[in-house]
Parts: sequence; structure tokens; C-alpha cells
Amino acid sequence: MSGRTHPPILPPQVRIKTFEPYAENLDDRMALYEASRCITCYEPPCKEACPTHIDIPEFIHRIKSGNYYGAAKVIRQSNIFGGECAYVCPVERLCEEKCVRNSLKDEPVAISLLQRFAFEKERKKGIIKFEKAPPKKKKVAVVGAGPAGLSAAYELARKGYKVTVFDSNPKAGGLMLYGILPWKASWEVAESEIKNILEYGIEFVPSKKVSDLKALLNEYGAVFIGAGTSKSAKLGIEGEDLKGVYPAQDFLYDVARHLQKKGKAPDLKGKRVAIIGGGDTAIDASMASLRLGAERVYIIYRRSLAEMPAVPYGRKQAKEEGVEFLLLSSPVRIHGKNGAVTAIECVKMALGEPDQSGRRAVTPIKGSEFKMDIDAVIVAVGQKPDQEALKSFGLKLKNGLIETDNKFATSIKGVFAGGDVVNGGETVVKATAEGKLAAESIDQFLKGGSK
Ligand SMILES: Cc1cc2nc3c(=O)[nH]c(=O)nc-3n(C[C@H](O)[C@H](O)[C@H](O)COP(=O)(O)OP(=O)(O)OC[C@H]3O[C@@H](n4cnc5c(N)ncnc54)[C@H](O)[C@@H]3O)c2cc1C
Ligand code: SF4
Repeated sequence: MSGRTHPPILPPQVRIKTFEPYAENLDDRMALYEASRCITCYEPPCKEACPTHIDIPEFIHRIKSGNYYGAAKVIRQSNIFGGECAYVCPVERLCEEKCVRNSLKDEPVAISLLQRFAFEKERKKGIIKFEKAPPKKKKVAVVGAGPAGLSAAYELARKGYKVTVFDSNPKAGGLMLYGILPWKASWEVAESEIKNILEYGIEFVPSKKVSDLKALLNEYGAVFIGAGTSKSAKLGIEGEDLKGVYPAQDFLYDVARHLQKKGKAPDLKGKRVAIIGGGDTAIDASMASLRLGAERVYIIYRRSLAEMPAVPYGRKQAKEEGVEFLLLSSPVRIHGKNGAVTAIECVKMALGEPDQSGRRAVTPIKGSEFKMDIDAVIVAVGQKPDQEALKSFGLKLKNGLIETDNKFATSIKGVFAGGDVVNGGETVVKATAEGKLAAESIDQFLKGGSK
């Protein structure tokens, strides 16, 4: 049997009118067919490729035999954010990339769609609960309620520790609710999974920015930091401070708050918007701009499509929706009038030989400068943690990130860290996996074992 199931998706002209998800889920018949495409590999490469090592052939086997709740249980045992990950995981770079069907000149098994299917069934019955160890006296503080912090909190609460999670945002969820927008993520699924985690007896303290690590260590036996990367990197060019230039993280945060009816998104109606960068954040910002009514949206990227870090699926969606790609181009100056953006000046770039990391170098082509009239610029050239906050923690840093050993222990005894604040910005599933592993190390530490 071959031929992957492709559930219907809304046409581009319709979907840019809404922030809602536009791809349908599998129905029972499609799920059974898709599950039968899995050949239940021995030592499955898909499982190995998943940062949380979900037993993929086992959950697919359970779907095949109609045991949908059992399938969801297999996933949740490894990944407490399995429902949300089924929406947001870049599976093209993870489990589906490694599916053996690729080597059979076929398309991979639709693992994420099957995962969504299992959780849709679970939702109808009620979220699966796991057992919890008897309460322990020791307390743990978690800084940051993103997937890393919540995953660590969940594992520790299940081990019986008294856990308190602090977050500077009013809601728990981190970028799952304040960065990844709902046509891609499912906020409903994320919120139900967050609620489920907090129900394991975790205390959540909202709108509380932690800066005094010592005070926490006086009260708690250990601290986990999952503070993420909330600041966008800057271009470092003239005009970056003009009105109408937005750091991508702030822009997407404002759009999220607007959708949650708690704030205002920038007014891009009828405007020409240039997004600088070639990653997934640039793609998300471009698609959000279209949904806010922008007339023309350009992605300006200094390398070619072959080097673009954004996943091909996202690029395809953006292109279909009308985003224009200006490749081998780099901004040199942003022009303005009366303090607001009016144009962007770029230079054409030439690709050179690959550097040590295998990435091809780029050099500007002299005299190739060109100028485009533009009303807004969104800068999506990378993100980093809030350096002020990290300095106040007094931890050893490396390249602006918290340095840890392979057990997620930081330079201060009893303080552990994981997720984007350590890895520099990866994925929800990686943050979840790191939170889980760090919780193991914290448990060892609190039991008097190694640091
Ligand atoms: C635009 C965008 C799109 C993305 N799309 C995807 C995607 O499709 N799929 C995917 O898998 N990943 C995606 N990611 C990446 C993913 O969101 C992150 O890798 C993941 O959320 C990291 O989790 P985390 O817990 O480390 O940090 P975060 O999710 O950033 O959570 C950190 C939390 O810590 C809080 N905090 C920070 N400092 C403090 C402090 N001093 N005191 C108290 N609280 C604090 C913050 O308020 C935040 O809630 C995307 C990221 C961005 C920016
Ligand atoms: S690699 Fe593909 S075929 Fe093999 S177990 Fe995983 S999903 Fe099934």
C-alpha cells in the first residue's frame, strides 16, 4: 500500500481572511488507511528522531486496532504536550524525515496527523491522568511557564515535589500562546494541556518576573529556569528605530494579544510590509501580516531558497498565500519621513563557498543597491534571551545563553535550566524533552545524588 493521505485544506484566498487553522484532521477512515502505511519498523528511526522518543509504531498500531485512547496514552507517557506537538512539530525535520517510507521512494507516514487524530479522540473522553507519588516535603521553583518549564514542573509534581511556577506573562504557555499563532498551533489544545499539567497540584504565579535567584534558593530546594528567548536580534542598520519597524517577537506577541482580545496588533491594512529573515519566524510574520490586511508582503532573505532555514511546508503555504520572496538580498538602510518608515534599501548578494558549518557564505555585490517603497518592516533575524534578566540571575553564560552541563545543571548549585534559554531557540518538543530530562537531574540532586 502506498500514497499518503492528504486531508483537505482551505484555498489560500479564504484562509488569509482568518487566523483559524485551515487544514482538516483525519477522519476514522483516513486514519485507518494512514495507520496501515506504517510497517512497524524494528528499531524505528522515527522514534529515535523524536526528542521525546514517543513510541510511534506502538501508537500507530493501537490506532490500527481501534484503541484510540490507548494510542493517546502511549504518546502522552513520553510527551505531556503530545497534542500541541501534533500541530506545531516541524515533522519534516524530525520523525517524518526519518520514516523509512522515504527510502522506499514513497511519502512518509503522516505521523503528526495520526497523533492529532489520537488526541481528538482523547479529548472526547477526557484527558488521560497518570499516577502521582506521595507528597514530598521539598519544594521546587520554576521560572518560566513555557513548554520547558511546564514539562519540568509536571515531572517534578508527579514525583511528589511541591512545585511553584512563575511567569511574567498573565497566562502560562510561553510561546505556545504568545508566539505561535493559531492557524498553525491549536491554542485550544495547548490550553487544555496546560490546564491538565497545573491540575497535578502545581501552583502557578502569573505576571511575576523573577530577577532574584538567591531569594528563590532560600525558599526552594532547587530552581529550574525555562525563561526562553524573548528578544529579537537587531539588524544594526540605519533607520531601525523608525516608527513602523517591529522586532518579530514583539510583533507576534502583539498579534497574539490582539487575538486574545487583550491588546492591539499593528495596523497593516493596505500596507506594504517587508520581513527580514529566512526562518520560520519570518514565515509566520509574513502570514500574520497578510491576515492583518497587508497589501503586499515581501520576505527579504540574503541567501537563496536552498539555504533558507524555514521548513519547506511553511514556505509553500506563504507563497501560495501571496508572500513574495526577494532572495539574495540584504537590507542596508531603512528610509523614513517624519519619523516613520517609507522605504527600504537593499543590496544584492552573491553566494560563496560553504564555511566550516557547511553554510554558504554571502557577499554584497558592489553597485547592486536597490530601493523599495515600504510602510512597515518586521525584523526576524534571530532571537535571544533577555540579557538584563540573565545578568540579574548571576549565572555563567555562553554566547548570551545559560551554560549548563549535560544534566542541565548551571554554574550555581541547585539551579538547572533548559529549553530555548539554553539551546538558543529550537522547538516546543525539544523544550518539552529538556524540561523532562532536567526534572530527572533535579530529582537526583534533591535526593542527595549528583548535582
Ligand atoms: C514566531 C515563532 C514561531 C514558532 N513556531 C514554532 C513551531 O511551529 N513549532 C515549534 O515546535 N516551535 C516553534 N517555535 C519555537 C518554540 O515556540 C520554542 O522553541 C518553545 O516555546 C521554547 O520553549 P521554552 O519553554 O524554552 O520558552 P518559551 O516558550 O519562550 O517560554 C518562556 C517563558 O518564560 C517566561 N519568562 C521569561 N523570563 C522570565 C522571568 N525572569 N520571570 C518569569 N518568567 C519569565 C516568559 O514569559 C515565557 O512565558 C516558534 C517560535 C517563534 C518565536
Ligand atoms: S519509520 Fe515510518 S514506517 Fe517505520 S515505524 Fe516509523 S512511522 Fe512506521
